[in-house]
This record gives sequence, C-alpha cells and structure tokens, in this order.
Amino acid sequence: MLGSLRSIVQEVNAARDLPAVLDIIVHRVREVMHTKVCSVYLRDNHSDTYVLMATRGLNPDAVGHVHLAPGEGLVGNVVTREEPINLERAEAHPAYHYFPATGEERFSAFLGTPIIHHRQVLGVLVVQQAEQRRFDEGEEAFLVTLSAQLAGVIAHAEATGALAAIGQQRREAKFSGLAASPGVAIGRAHIVAPPANLATVPFACCMDVDAELELFNQALANARTEIREVGERLKGDLNREERALFDAYISMLDDSSIAVEVSDRIRQQLTASRAWAEVMLEHVRRFEAMSDSYFRDRAADVRDLGARVLMHLRQQQQIERDYPEKTILVGEELTAAALAQVPREKLVGLVSVKGSANSHVAIIARAMGLPAVMGAQELPFERIDGEDLVVDGYRGELFVHPSPELRRRYDSIVEEERELARNLDHLASLPGETADGHRVRLWVNTGLMADVVRSLERGAEGVGLYRTEVPFLLRDRFPSEEEQREIYREQLEAFAPRPVTMRTLDIGGDKALAYFPIEETNPFLGWRGIRVTLDHPEIFLGQVRAMMKASEGLDNLRIMLPMISGVAELEAARKLVERAYAELVDEGFKITMPPLGIMIEVPSAVYQARELAERVDFMSVGSNDLTQYLLAVDRNNSRVAGNYHALHPAVLRALSEVVRAGHEGHTKVGICGELAGDPGGALLLLAMGYDVLSMNATNLPRVKATLRAVSRADTQRLLERVLHMQCPEEIETTLQDYLKGLGLKALLQPQ
Ligand code: PEP
Ligand code: MG
Repeated sequence: MLGSLRSIVQEVNAARDLPAVLDIIVHRVREVMHTKVCSVYLRDNHSDTYVLMATRGLNPDAVGHVHLAPGEGLVGNVVTREEPINLERAEAHPAYHYFPATGEERFSAFLGTPIIHHRQVLGVLVVQQAEQRRFDEGEEAFLVTLSAQLAGVIAHAEATGALAAIGQQRREAKFSGLAASPGVAIGRAHIVAPPANLATVPFACCMDVDAELELFNQALANARTEIREVGERLKGDLNREERALFDAYISMLDDSSIAVEVSDRIRQQLTASRAWAEVMLEHVRRFEAMSDSYFRDRAADVRDLGARVLMHLRQQQQIERDYPEKTILVGEELTAAALAQVPREKLVGLVSVKGSANSHVAIIARAMGLPAVMGAQELPFERIDGEDLVVDGYRGELFVHPSPELRRRYDSIVEEERELARNLDHLASLPGETADGHRVRLWVNTGLMADVVRSLERGAEGVGLYRTEVPFLLRDRFPSEEEQREIYREQLEAFAPRPVTMRTLDIGGDKALAYFPIEETNPFLGWRGIRVTLDHPEIFLGQVRAMMKASEGLDNLRIMLPMISGVAELEAARKLVERAYAELVDEGFKITMPPLGIMIEVPSAVYQARELAERVDFMSVGSNDLTQYLLAVDRNNSRVAGNYHALHPAVLRALSEVVRAGHEGHTKVGICGELAGDPGGALLLLAMGYDVLSMNATNLPRVKATLRAVSRADTQRLLERVLHMQCPEEIETTLQDYLKGLGLKALLQPQ
C-alpha cells in the first residue's frame, strides 16, 4: 500500500492544475482499491456546499451539478462529523440522499473520508462498490492517509487555479498568512527566486517568441559545452559508472523531444526559463514516481541537469531587474540578503510563503518599519510577479489585484498611520517615564545601519541589542577583524554617549551563513549562538577584539552573550573576553573593559538566573527564544505559529522570576525580545520591574506613549490579575481592554 500511496501523491504533485489533480485521484484510487467508483467533492465557498468535482464510475455528466450542504446526504455527514463514514448498505442509512443524475443507485458499499486542511473540511473523497460489503480497516486507513496527504496539494492547486482565472479577469484574490510586521503596503510584487531552482521559476509570458527560442537554444548549447568540459577535466578521477553520468546528461540535452516540448511552450508565449522548468519538473516527477529505485534515483540527476541549464538561461539574460517604485518583495523563503538588495527607498513590504512572525527576516522587517506577511502557504507566489498587491501586516492578509474600493480603504488606513506617527513625534525628546515618575530605559534593537537613523529620530536612549550577525549574513565570507571594527565603530559613534549592547555572533537556528553551513536535523536545539563561537575561539576573539577596538575613546560598548545555558559557558566566554582585552591593552589600545552581560533565552538560564546574575554586569531576556523553548514551539514554523504565545502564563511567570532573581543578584535586567515592543506586553514588564525595554524603532513611540500614560502602581495591580489567568487569549484581551480604557485605542492595530 505504501508504494501506491507514494506514487499517487507523486503523480498528483506533478499535475499541472486542479482538474488534472482530481482526475489522477479518482482514476488511481479506483484502480488501487479495486472499487467501482471513486469521486471527489470539493467545497464551494460561495454557496457553502460540497460539489461533485470529479468521478470515475458515476455519471460524468453529474460533475459540477451535485451540491450537498454540510449535514446533507452521506457526503454532507462526512463534512459535519469530520471523520470517515463506512457503510455496507449506503441506501439504508437515514442520511442517504439519492441524486438520479449520478446513477449511484447501482452502488451499495460506501466509504467517504474528509479532506481536511488547516482544520477546515476542504472536500470529501468517496469510494463505492456495487456489492453489499463493509470496506475493511486497511482500506479505510488507506483512504484516510491519502486524504490527509492530498489536502495540501488540493488547497494549493485550488489557489493557483483561482488565481489564474482571476488573473485573466483581473479580479481581486485574497490570501492569508501570519501578521509578521504591522502596517499596510500597497505596491507591486517582485519575486525573489533562489538561483537555479526549477520549482520557483516565476510564471511569466514572453513578448518576443523568436528571441526566447534563441535564448533557449543558446543555453542548451552552453550547458552541453560545460558538461563536456567538466567531464573531460574529471576523466582521470572518475570510474566508468560515474563517467556514464556525463554521457547521460549530454544525451538528455540532445533528446529532441525535450527540446520540442520546451519550444512548444515558448511558442505559447511562456518565457524560456519557465517553459524549461515546467518540462524538466514533469520529467523529474515521472522518474520519482517509478517503482524501480535505480530510476527513482535518476530524478536527482534530471533535476541537477535542469538547474544547470536554468543557470545558463539566467546568465544569458543577465537581466539587472529594475525594482518597481513600490516594491513588495515576495519569495518562498525570504532572506535578509534578498532584502538588502532592494534599494531602501523602493521597498515597501514583504511576503514570504515560509516562516513566521518570529523568523529573523520578520524581525528585520519590523525594525525597518516594513509591513510583512509570513507563512502565506497557499500563495502561488511564482505566478504573481509584477502584479498589484496590498499587504496587510496587521492581519496577515494579502490581496492580489486589489479592487479600487479595497485600495481606497487601505489608503485611508495608511493615512491614519501617518497621522498617528505625526502625533507621536513630539515624544522623541521626552523620557520613558510613567505618570507616577517611574523611569524605564527605552532602548532599541538594531542590525542594519538604516536602523540607526530611525532609532535616533525616535529618541532611542541606547541600543539594547545590536544583532551582529546581520552584517555577517550580508557577506560571502566572515568579515575580517578590521571590517568588523569599521562596522561596529559606526554603530558606537552614532549612538555615543548612549550605551550600545553588542551581541556576539548568534548564528545557527534559522540564521545560516551561506559560507558556513550548519546542517542539522534540529537546528534550534543544536549548534547555535555561544555554542558555535566557544567551539571557534578564533571567530569569537576576532569579533570581541573588533568590538573593543571600535569602542576606543567612546567607552559606550556593552558585550552580550547569546544562548547561555549555564555558568560554565559564561565563564568560558568571559575568559576569552578578558584575554582579548589584555591583548589589546598590550597592543597599546586605550580602552576600558566593557560591561559583560548575557541573554536569558534558554529555560535552564531562568532557573539559574540568580547564580548567573551574580557573575555578570547585566542580563537581558531574549523572549523570542525563551517563548519557543518554554512552549516547545519552533518560532519559524508557520504550522504551529498559533501555539506561539509570548503572553502565555508560563512565559509570564518565567519573566517575573528572571527579574526577581536578577535584582536579588544585584544586576540590572532588561528584555530585548519582541514582547518589549508590544504596548500591552510593556505594561506587564514595567510592573514586573524590568529596567530596560529594548525594541525595534518602529514600536518605540507607541510603547513610550503607553508608559507615559500609566502609573506603575496601577500596572502592578493589572499584573497581579493577569498572573492568575490561565490562557494567553484571556490575557491578550485583558491587555487590549486595559489600553482602550486608558484611551490608547489608537495604539492598537486599526480595525
Ligand atoms: C530573542 O531571542 O528574544 C532575541 C532577542 O534574539 P533573536 O531574536 O535574535 O534570537
Ligand atoms: Mg534569541
């Protein structure tokens, strides 16, 4: 059964569109299960009914004409019960509803399973038999497994089909994702395709078919030459079997049927890249679906060959693409590097199919004040290059081809935001102080030079977290000590005499350096942050030396260590910092030893906060990671983003515990996770006694306005109440109501 399951899923994955997907399902399931009938019903959102969309065995003329409401007939019952219905005699069931058009009176045995995607019943998969018999447990389990696997593919195919139809009529289409960075962006999509990836070549039409055919033929010729040359060069190092691979590549390129298929699609006005990618992917899938493992393994070769030719196509085109005036960057998995390539004045928003609000690219987006939607899983992103978009970063929604009316609505939200920003402008010069005179340091998190200007304009009193990995991410090798010194100097100078907290390199997890790949099954629990740099003292020492050299004459540097999970790591890192300091003093630098602090972002550090506090000059809670580790929710996984609650009661208890233990250990305690930049979260942190709240510059005015409007004594009563609550949703609502009660509704997201 596993073999059939896999081959059906692979075939379905290779299908071009929704009708092809459904056709493969009904045809193959009927064949594999030896049934008389297999049908698929899909939900029609307009009529809220389930419509017969494909069948083998029922009257084909009934397709599109049989509609069942939830609860109506057997299919409707599968929908409402959200579980399979398996009947020996369908006609004897009280819910049985006979549709003469289908001709189904000939069939007795019925098995229907729901197709569920993101907790929604997308459709029902049904098999039927003429004789009276119950499908056995194995058959039922098979259909359930298949439905679960097909749900995502069907959802994606539906979205793509809807978009293609809408594209022709230029009708508005809405997609949902996760609200990752607040604000609204109205602009034009610019797709970032990773180099030479067949699966992400944007769908695009060409204007000049002859030129595109020429481009394609030239790319084939170049690829052929390249493969021959490489084969020649490696001849002596390869055995016979390995050499055969090069011959196989060449003969595939010489295979005229592939060239004909691609040329046909180009003649239908597809670009050469897209036509090549489509054809090669179909071949890849055909190989993947083969039962013989030798042929299955060849799929990787075909994919590799496809990527090579694609690279040549790209090289020839050499299109230095112009970014639209209002660029909304869209990609399968956006990276900080892709973001940095767009001129800042043109970039207005971001959309990523993968990732969540806590991914690093989302954090950078917030820091830059760019509205962003992450985890837009159903978005057929490769088909929307150059299209008009509206990104609603408050709700995590995205509109393709927005209607004039929708645009007007969003234009007015943008105007409201500008108005709010203008109203908060005057706060820049005022201190972060509550109405009853309690002072809280409001600092900023930075990473890019662009953050500096925004931060100073908004009245930042210091930097609570400078993410040094950002300049590392934007290069193709480790920056040298001198290069680092220059970058750090810029930060320190820009903020002097205000303190700047520089975090030592925190790579690993989802922050991968292209030139220092870390391959792990479980990267967030793996070689991350301080673990990497303690294992590579040459990197750590170089960085710390660069920071200290950069601070000469300014003395506003603080060094912070990420991912500390116990005293031993802190002590080992301290030794290296002290060594670097001693070396620099010996070398003649006039520097003072900077304060040394740690991040509290691993649960073990919460329980050792007191011991750690006694050994450091300051502590800062990294609530983004602390939340993910306490709740066991990957901060980067959009599937479980709904389980990620920075205001979870367990997180709030941990946060209270850290500040209490830190103060007992006579050290100042700050927080630099995203929670600090949330007006509601800031109220609780103020009440807990946090000395420093460090956030992105965008949120700073909102948080300052909030703190200046409350008295600390009142927030302590609020905290008391909140700490008795048991679920995060209740806490979130309580905080929102509290802010509304203070007349601060404007600081919440617009309705
Ligand atoms: C955190 O984990 O809260 C934090 C500030 O660090 P980062 O988001 O860079 O992991
Ligand atoms: Mg962290």
